[in-house]
Amino acid sequence: MSPPEVVASAPEVTVVAIDGPAGAGKSTVGRGVAAELGVGYLDTGAMYRAVTVAVLRRGIDPDDDHAVASATRSLDMVIDDRDGVTWVSVDGVDATGEIRGSEVTAAVSAVAANSAVRAELVERQRRWVRDHGGAVVEGRDIGSVVFPDAALKLYVTASPRVRAERRVAQSGGDVDEIEDAIRERDRKDSSRTDSPLVEASDAQIVDTTVMSIDEVVADIVGRLRR
Ligand code: C5P
Repeated sequence: MSPPEVVASAPEVTVVAIDGPAGAGKSTVGRGVAAELGVGYLDTGAMYRAVTVAVLRRGIDPDDDHAVASATRSLDMVIDDRDGVTWVSVDGVDATGEIRGSEVTAAVSAVAANSAVRAELVERQRRWVRDHGGAVVEGRDIGSVVFPDAALKLYVTASPRVRAERRVAQSGGDVDEIEDAIRERDRKDSSRTDSPLVEASDAQIVDTTVMSIDEVVADIVGRLRR
């Protein structure tokens, strides 16, 4: 009798999902956790920003759903996280600085509300994680939509005032204006129909209002080790 056939199971792919509003410290937390686990880190916000760069470069109206969708499908986008920076190239041209500019930040929520854009990017995110054998993935809908079976889901948040103050400490600007812009982007991201920003029911809430981001990383890494 021949031995029972051994069916190779799909390789385990570990995903840690980090969601939360703008400027709450998700990237610092995400990179710290990825380094501890020895896996890659994917900033999905950089992908929505990259699409927005392409839309603006091509002179497309961000509210023109059809044109934005077709630009997304044909987009050549390369994402690479190195030395604490997410490097992005859009159609072969570096866009690492451009994706963080104020014009892109103001238009990105409209682009991200487009369901065809989301479908295309979610597909690319899942492929990226599969190809990298797991990852820490940061965004708005990672635990709720993109990877509902993630091994660990964190929802990182902080008060809008504290988020604005951190942004000012990092790159200057007027704290009231920045707080208003943050509140407006949160409002758009939380109220859109497709995949709004929500706390997944099984996410652990991490509030960085009173804890420093370094303390948060140490806390999560401690939990992962245990
Ligand atoms: O994380 P970041 O602030 O760079 O994200 C930029 C924008 O991309 C968000 O304001 C949101 O509109 C969109 N986004 C999204 N879903 C994700 C990640 C980002 O809709 N998973």
